Amino acid sequence: MENQIEEIKNRLDIVEVIGSYIKLQKAGVNFRALCPFHSEKKPSFFVSPVRQIWRCFGCSKGGDVFKFVMEIEGVEFGDALRILAKRAGVELKSLPKEFFTRRKKLEEILETACLFYQAQLEKSTQGKKAKEYLLERKFNEESIKKWRLGWAPNTFSSLSDFLLSRKFQKKDIVDAGLAFEGKNGHLIDRFRSRIIFPVFDLNSQVVGFGGRIFGTEDVAKYINTPNTLLYDKSKIVYGLDKARLEARRKDFLILVEGYVDCILSHQNGFENTVAVSGTALSLDHLKLLQRYTNNLYFSFDMDLAGQEATKRGIFLAQQMGFEIKILSLPPEKDPADVISQDPLKWKEIIDSAKSIIDYFFELFLSRFDKEKIEEKKEIVKNLAPFILNIPNEIEKTFWLEKISKELKIKEEDLRKELAKIKLVKNEIATSEKTNDSSKSRREILEEKLLYVVLQEPSFLDKITTEDFIFFSSLSQEILKGLKEKKESLFPPEIKNFYDYLFLKSEIEKLEPSILEKEFNFCKKEIVKMTAREKLEEISKRIQAAEKEKNEETLRGLNKEFNFWAEKIK
Ligand SMILES: [Zn+2]
Repeated sequence: MENQIEEIKNRLDIVEVIGSYIKLQKAGVNFRALCPFHSEKKPSFFVSPVRQIWRCFGCSKGGDVFKFVMEIEGVEFGDALRILAKRAGVELKSLPKEFFTRRKKLEEILETACLFYQAQLEKSTQGKKAKEYLLERKFNEESIKKWRLGWAPNTFSSLSDFLLSRKFQKKDIVDAGLAFEGKNGHLIDRFRSRIIFPVFDLNSQVVGFGGRIFGTEDVAKYINTPNTLLYDKSKIVYGLDKARLEARRKDFLILVEGYVDCILSHQNGFENTVAVSGTALSLDHLKLLQRYTNNLYFSFDMDLAGQEATKRGIFLAQQMGFEIKILSLPPEKDPADVISQDPLKWKEIIDSAKSIIDYFFELFLSRFDKEKIEEKKEIVKNLAPFILNIPNEIEKTFWLEKISKELKIKEEDLRKELAKIKLVKNEIATSEKTNDSSKSRREILEEKLLYVVLQEPSFLDKITTEDFIFFSSLSQEILKGLKEKKESLFPPEIKNFYDYLFLKSEIEKLEPSILEKEFNFCKKEIVKMTAREKLEEISKRIQAAEKEKNEETLRGLNKEFNFWAEKIK
């Protein structure tokens, strides 16, 4: 197993793997980024291509490429192993126990179900009709294959029976969200008489399904897999696995409402498109999108634009620093209609996307009469949250000027009005969390001394083996390894700390002229600190020995006391 892990690591470049999840910037010999694991405005997340490790100096997370995938995908080691093996093109031979995770079991069921649905679309009578309908709606064969569209027959348990015949367990089928148990204990398929849209995670693994009713009536036009171990609708963005490269290249993402809009966009060359319901846009979705771009183009119909839930999603995106534009669709049309009729028209709409404030300003101007004082107030009230939410002051002023001119209100009065409106804070953390404050003074000093030594190895000679007693056991191990040139033999927990120090020494490179001063200062302070701790401890023991009138112990302790007292001077 060890060999296979090494082989995977050797074949993959950590910069490339991490770079496929988040935007990396070159910083000297390393790369840096905004940390995907905590909220921050200045990047403190670093990747070292030389050491093939990553580390965040804000939240202290770090490790190798496996650790990164585990953290960012929220999966276990076995899952990260599979993801990276697939990526590296390494076929796993001897599989460890931890490889067979619950996740893997459910993935297998979903993959099998997906193949079942796909075959039904091609071969069954009902399925063929569904496919005809898709072709009529301008889907082409290639898209049907690429997005793995399928058909769920109008029967009670075709899929469940098929899965049971493939030796899958009832409980697993239910847990995968594919069926539920009826009164008599038989399984009933969740998706019946529906066109199936598989939902993929970032690794294009099927994690759930959406189903559109076809050939029969149902109150729900669309239904989805309920939340399962693999499928959390607040964390999955449909189509992102296929859109992410293009999103980064073009540096913007188009958000549409539905599967059909999304697939037809891709089919017509707008591959930087994803589908997420405007009313359900969550903080997790936005964090995911922010890995690829800071520019979002929203496309939703006019009646939805005013809804609280939609506004909330937009506010959230605005507060996270996204640049937001809105696509204005012709009345009563959704993106799929426009694209399938005339892709060029869609391109025009994208090119003339309006900034969010322009869009809402126009929307409210069309709804209210700006000549009437009461309605003028309404416009200001409706627009206020969007303006207050702009993080940049210059941009804010730009809009205030524009609005005051248009509504014939003094800018000063407008500002006064806005000041009365309280902006509701949402779940975005306003403070940037760091772990540095939780470090003890000793940890900070020892870390600094060690990374100064890494930057200037000749200082190692200034620390003798007698000096080791001043340091914590972790630092002692590092110093010992460095002195004996046995860094490559560090056990994992020490290697982890060593990698961290090394990266830090590269990132926070000190001026060569101050290295010696820093080193001497840290060493002196560490010695003093240790001495004070020792003296306190010895004093207690002396008191105890005095009570017991133990002369011999006292003599020894006094000698020790003097030794440490010397160090404080
Ligand atoms: Zn972090």
